[in-house]
Amino acid sequence: MARRKKFRAWGLALTAAASFAFVQDRWLAGLVLSGVLVLYLVFVRKTGCRVQTLTDRPCSNSARGYAGTCKLHTGSKQGMPVLRALGMFGSPRLMWLRPEGVQVPRRAGQPVSAMREVGTAEPPARTGRETIMLWVTISGVVVAVAAFLRDLIAG
Ligand SMILES: [Zn+2]
Repeated sequence: MARRKKFRAWGLALTAAASFAFVQDRWLAGLVLSGVLVLYLVFVRKTGCRVQTLTDRPCSNSARGYAGTCKLHTGSKQGMPVLRALGMFGSPRLMWLRPEGVQVPRRAGQPVSAMREVGTAEPPARTGRETIMLWVTISGVVVAVAAFLRDLIAG
């Protein structure tokens, strides 16, 4: 059964649309599109969870946006993220430090890689808040496109 490829480049599309709006002096449309882009990056975009793991790297289970966490780390994000370099040649990445005294739920002797596979095997559960943010973002895009088209027609 062939699955239709999902469009994933929303961030790029929004950036391009916002830049185009600014170049065309459509400041309102540009600002709305930029706001939608930020909302999209923070709440909607599928990305890796950035909570510090036992191996001192950001957890890479799938999560929704920079504000999201994977199922294992729900409620583990506290305070501000820190920039940490990974290894000697690794590029620095933003990471939320694991709260003191809170252990990642993991059976004794179970390797971290096995835990990760368990975490990535299931799609991330969509909570009510995420669904609301998704709809806010979608309606924002609709409003932005409508404003942009109106500007084009009027101008
Ligand atoms: Zn995680």
